[in-house]
Amino acid sequence: MSVTVVGSIAYDAVKTPFGERERMLGGAATHFALAASFFDGVSVVGPVGEDFGDEELALLATRGTDVSDVERVEGGKTFFWKGEYGWDLNSRETLDTQLGVFEGFQPKLSAQARACDVLFLANIQPGLQLDVLDQCEAPRFTALDSMNLWIEIAREQLVAVIERVDCVILNDAELRQLTGKPNLVTAAREVLAMGPKVVVGKQGEYGAALITEDGFFALPAYPLENVIDPTGAGDTFAGGFVGYVAQHVGEPLDDGLLRRAMAYGTAVASYNVEQFGTERVARLAPEEVHERVADIHALTQFEHRPVALVGESGR
Ligand code: AMP
Repeated sequence: MSVTVVGSIAYDAVKTPFGERERMLGGAATHFALAASFFDGVSVVGPVGEDFGDEELALLATRGTDVSDVERVEGGKTFFWKGEYGWDLNSRETLDTQLGVFEGFQPKLSAQARACDVLFLANIQPGLQLDVLDQCEAPRFTALDSMNLWIEIAREQLVAVIERVDCVILNDAELRQLTGKPNLVTAAREVLAMGPKVVVGKQGEYGAALITEDGFFALPAYPLENVIDPTGAGDTFAGGFVGYVAQHVGEPLDDGLLRRAMAYGTAVASYNVEQFGTERVARLAPEEVHERVADIHALTQFEHRPVALVGESGR
C-alpha cells in the first residue's frame, strides 16, 4: 500500500511561552508524512524554493518517505509561516504567511504518486487539492484537511473536494464554520451528507471526535505535563490516523478500525507537541508509538457497573 500527500512544505517561525525557532522545517504535508511514514510508504507532492536546504529534504525523507515529487522551483521561495501562541497554548496568532512557490503551482504527479492506494489532501488551496485528486488513478481511501481561510474565500471549491473524498479531518471550529451549525455532531452529520463516510473533528488539547453514519467515538488528547509547541499537531494526528487506515486498506472500514486509527493518530500527535516543529517525531521510535497507544487504551477504559438508582423499583 502507499500514501500520497499534497500540502504545504514550509519554513516556520514559531514563538511559544517556552521558546522560539526562527526558521524550522514545517508545513502540513511535512508533519503528515513524518507520522504516516510509521505505517506505510509515503510520497510527498509539493513545491519548495531554491532556499530549501538539503538537510530539510533529508528530514522530510525520514523513514523512507519518497521526496522525488517535491519540486524545487528555480528562483522561488519556500512557503513561509510565522505564528505565536498565547500562554496556555490554546490561542495562536498567525503573524505572517508568504505563499512563495505555492503561487502559480501546478502539481504534476509522477506515475508512482498517481498510483497511490491512499491520498491525503493536506491543508492547501482547495483548487490544488482538486487538481491532485483528478490526477490520482484509483485511490481506495481519500481524506482531506483544510482551514478557516479556505472556508472563507474558497468555500465552493472546498465543498467540491469534500463531495469527492471518503474522510474529512477538520478542527471542530472549522466544521462549525463550514456548516453554520453550532453543534459539533450536527455539523459533522451535515458534512457526512455531502458525501464522505467519515468525519473527524480535531479538538486540540481536548482530543478528537470521530463521526460516521453508524456511530460516534471520542478520545482525549494524551495528558502531557510539558507541551512545548503544538504546531503541526493536527497534521501529525492526520498522519497517524490515515497511515493506520492505509495499512489496513482492503479490510472493512468499520468503526473498530477507525477507533484504532484514532488512537494511533492521538499517540503520534502527543509526541509532536513535546518539542518544537518536527524535532520529536523525526526521532521517534516505533516502540514509543506502541507504548503510548497502550497508555491511551488504559486511560480511556472503565468498567461499567450499573448501580440501583433512586426512582427505580425496589428503591
Ligand atoms: P497546524 O498546527 O496543524 O495547524 O499546522 C501548522 C502547519 O501548517 C505549519 O507548519 C504551517 O507551515 C502550515 N500552514 C500554516 N498556514 C498555512 C496555509 N495558509 N496553507 C498551508 N499550510 C499552512
